[in-house]
Amino acid sequence: MSIVEEINCPHCGAPIAFEPGEILATCKYCGYTVVIETGQTFTYEHSLLLNKYDPAQIEEPIRGWMREGFLKPPDLARKSKMLEKELIYLPFWVVTVETKSSYKGIFERIAPAIMKEGTIEKGYDWLVLARKATVFPTKEYEVPLEGKIPYDFRRIEAFAKILNSEIDKSDAEEQAKQEIEDDHRFLAQQDVDRIVEIKTEIKIEKTVYLHAPVWFVKYGYKGKTYQLIMDGVEGTAIKGDIPAAGFRIL
Ligand SMILES: [Zn+2]
Repeated sequence: MSIVEEINCPHCGAPIAFEPGEILATCKYCGYTVVIETGQTFTYEHSLLLNKYDPAQIEEPIRGWMREGFLKPPDLARKSKMLEKELIYLPFWVVTVETKSSYKGIFERIAPAIMKEGTIEKGYDWLVLARKATVFPTKEYEVPLEGKIPYDFRRIEAFAKILNSEIDKSDAEEQAKQEIEDDHRFLAQQDVDRIVEIKTEIKIEKTVYLHAPVWFVKYGYKGKTYQLIMDGVEGTAIKGDIPAAGFRIL
């Protein structure tokens, strides 16, 4: 059990509950987002992606996912039972960046080895999950950012759960930079065999606080429980456990 604490909303005065470790909290009654430590209003852009499904409707794309792909048991969609469907608005920091990496390395695949140089220039909306202990496949999540609107608490369903940020903006930006550097190092390693030097410049254009609707699903199949994570905007699977199709001798 986590201990829930409260502060008063600076906008409407209603109590806002938060848990230890959370940095931002959003008022359930008026949608105001407050910085817990200072009690000040959160002044950066706060966005929302809209969920399109209720607990009954989300079953359709779930069964659709179960039917597709040859790795799944053929009776998966028919035989699975929905055990749990929970809609959670997860907090993210979306860090919009322009990046450029210049690298120098040794190309050893030919003899004699040569020194090779290259650049990687890319723009990203880099996604950082604003939670510390939550396990979420951020890399696999193609956030449909086109549909984002300014945060509007009236669009959040009563049955949904909202998580607050545990990571502040500057830490999220640091994390994004680190991940981008690692990513570019990985990309450079596809081009040269041994990196001698790599320099990455990252220009942050803006950082937006975003709540995105994600369905956490548990389903049962042949006596076992499996998990599936679905995007609530487009109804696509973000990541899911697939039961082994069973060994078949042909
Ligand atoms: Zn309020």
